[in-house]
Formats: sequence, C-alpha cells, structure tokens
Amino acid sequence: MRLEGTRLKEQDFQELPGVIYYKPYTRYKFSAGYAVSVFLEGLRNGKIIGAVCRRCGRVFVPPRSYCEYCHRPTDEFVELPDRGEISTAVISYISAKRGRLEEPVIVGVVRLETPGYRQDSYEFAGLFHRLCGVTEEDVKTGRAIGMKVKARWKPPEERTGSILDIECFEPITTGEGGEEQ
Ligand SMILES: [Zn+2]
Repeated sequence: MRLEGTRLKEQDFQELPGVIYYKPYTRYKFSAGYAVSVFLEGLRNGKIIGAVCRRCGRVFVPPRSYCEYCHRPTDEFVELPDRGEISTAVISYISAKRGRLEEPVIVGVVRLETPGYRQDSYEFAGLFHRLCGVTEEDVKTGRAIGMKVKARWKPPEERTGSILDIECFEPITTGEGGEEQ
C-alpha cells in the first residue's frame, strides 16, 4: 500500500504558527583531552600518532589514554605511517555540516598500517576521511575496497592541528608506492 503525503518545503516550516527564530549566543571552549591533544599536535607536524597498549598489543588511532580491552592505561604514543588501505567507501551527498551537496564526495574509513602491532579483521586503527582520486565507479564496483592510499597533507604553514590538516587520502600511484607495491 502506498500512502500519499504532501512534501513539506523549508518555507512551510517557517510559516508554522508558533515558530520563533533566534540566534543563541553560545560560546564555549572544548578540551580535546590529553590523548587527542597529542594526536592533533601530531597532525600539525604532519604525523599520525596512535597510542599503544603493551598488554594486548593494540594501537589506537586517534589515541586513547585507556585500553578498554585490558582496563588499564595505554603505555606510549607511536608515530604510524600515513598510509593504509580503504576499508569502507561511500558516495556521500551530505556535507560535514549536514547540508545537501550537489556534487557528491567520496568518504570512507582508511585502515592504517600499524607495523608491529596487533590488527584484527574486525577492529583496527582507522581514520574516517575524504578519499580523493577514488571515483564513484571505484565505489560502485567495489574496486575501492583494499585500495592502497596515502595521506595528502596540507602545506605545513596551513596546518592548524586539525583532522583537516590531512586534505584527504589518495591512491598511491606507481613510483611513490614504496616497497610493497
Ligand atoms: Zn590492551
């Protein structure tokens, strides 16, 4: 059964009786906490930093100060290679601020390389980010999954200690691929 309805436009909401518009004056400071602060500072310096739990061998990215598997503090920070492979990829029409995008972006989770540390198939050190140079076709056909990618960093003078200091992850092309290509 198909139930017919009337599609509402933004304008319709604005004309509802009793609707009041105001701009709240809300200023606040947010502390990233110790572990994430180390992570953000690392990004400013062009490094991806994780936290290691020596008991179970896991490395957390972004770093955590506590290992939820062992119920103990993590032991140290480590710099990881700024590369990995695509674990999930989607074509998104939603902007980071939840607006509609006319041109979609490809985003997904990059499973980072963590040489020497434990990685299970279902849990791993990964970052969600934009994927540049990955086409919609790559996503639709599933070709994107497993693609080797590398962080494309902003120039040092433009970095602010934000996840956006990495512009995106992009496929590693022949010549810069390194040893395993
Ligand atoms: Zn642990």
